[in-house]
Amino acid sequence: MNIVFATNNSNKIKEVQALLPSHIRLVSLEEIGCVEDIPETQDTIEGNAIQKADYIKEHYGLDCFADDTGLEVMALDGAPGVYSARYAGPQRNADDNMNLILSELASKDNRAARFKTVIAMHFQGNFITFEGICEGEITTKKTGTGGFGYDPIFQPKSYGKTFAEISLEEKNRIGHRGKAISKLVTYFK
Ligand code: IMP
Repeated sequence: MNIVFATNNSNKIKEVQALLPSHIRLVSLEEIGCVEDIPETQDTIEGNAIQKADYIKEHYGLDCFADDTGLEVMALDGAPGVYSARYAGPQRNADDNMNLILSELASKDNRAARFKTVIAMHFQGNFITFEGICEGEITTKKTGTGGFGYDPIFQPKSYGKTFAEISLEEKNRIGHRGKAISKLVTYFK
């Protein structure tokens, strides 16, 4: 059974494929000839995941799933949220984004934050979403060299380390994306 994973990131496809039962085969956007930018114009993380999955279903008539992730900082009323990639501007620079959050939180006591991943899926006439959340807090400075995006300033709850200081295996086990993907994998099993 084929299902499109609406991403251009071949590493993401390989990672998820390895977790799925062998009768489920992930198909990339490239394989279906989808080279256009899929619109992501909603104002919620869930809305964007649904928009991407709907787009593939409507334009290509194929079963598919799409994911969207964002960082929600409580003292910033949930920002950057759906705007996580371009919080400090259209250059989509991780350092700029982290610096902006650190400066906005400089005078705040509440540093609670969470990562949220939503996967939206059309499969065999059903529509379903899976959510993965990782609670934690924003550190006062960047620490660690691993990971990507906001990892150097995000410390998962009860961990003395940021996401940028732990292994990818550990991050997948406790992290937002890993939790959402494991719900998807359970659905297929
Ligand atoms: P996407 O929906 O996976 O493209 O993620 C949107 C943005 O959120 C990315 O550009 C990153 O800035 C940030 N982000 C997503 N996942 C993570 C993560 O696991 N760690 C740190 N930052 C992330």
